[in-house]
Amino acid sequence: MLGLAKRIGAKFLLTSTSEVYGDPLEHPQKETYWGHVNPIGVRSCYDEGKRTAETLTMDYHRGAGVEVRIARIFNTYGPRMCLDDGRVVSNFVSQAIRKQPMSVYGDGKQTRSFQYVSDLVDGLVALMEGEHVGPFNLGNPGEFTMLELAEVVKETIDPSATIEFKPNTDDDPHKRKPDISKAKELLNWEPKISLREGLPLMVKEAQSLLHPQGRRIPDDFFSIQEAYVPKASQHSF
Ligand code: UDP
Repeated sequence: MLGLAKRIGAKFLLTSTSEVYGDPLEHPQKETYWGHVNPIGVRSCYDEGKRTAETLTMDYHRGAGVEVRIARIFNTYGPRMCLDDGRVVSNFVSQAIRKQPMSVYGDGKQTRSFQYVSDLVDGLVALMEGEHVGPFNLGNPGEFTMLELAEVVKETIDPSATIEFKPNTDDDPHKRKPDISKAKELLNWEPKISLREGLPLMVKEAQSLLHPQGRRIPDDFFSIQEAYVPKASQHSF
């Protein structure tokens, strides 16, 4: 893609990730932090893949003059998310709607900071329209433990929802929260929608796709899904 951008003179956006910080020793994470990543662990193909993508993007920028922008996207959620993608917000929301216990991995004290999708889109547009290459953290600094997230999902969907503890995956980052002062200053951007405001917007759509008693496919299911979900996962609800 960088080669193509160089050939045709396109502006190139790399949607990188907070995973470049690994299991961070600096908190909150600033763009100047180089990260703490296990290079041979189960997550490293993703973490190191994204780190290499940042390297290549900067090399094409410096060496070939490609106009690039780099965003480091922190955990994001919202309507049209694939409800069986295995991420924590999609899992908790679909489990609570289906009256299944919410699966908390590990002790549930690890933290993440959840950003509503429209805030991310605004940040990406500001980045592409601005003059600065980045990298920029794009995320919501509101930090929650997974137990706190389960509590918010419970309040939003079903006060009788329960949790169950499951073993955590290897190398799971213990905490994650963006320092967004660089994006505030240079892109004039900051998120506007808190988790308690954004979650009900996602839940509303999820409730129309899932039904507590099992599968229910609304009339517009395939038109919604075809537009936003890769072919391979279209039939997996
Ligand atoms: N997690 C959880 N239950 C789930 C799915 C994930 O407790 O059903 C935890 C997971 O261990 C991690 C956090 O939620 O600590 C965020 O996981 P996710 O896969 O959503 O995002 P990432 O780890 O890439 O930030």
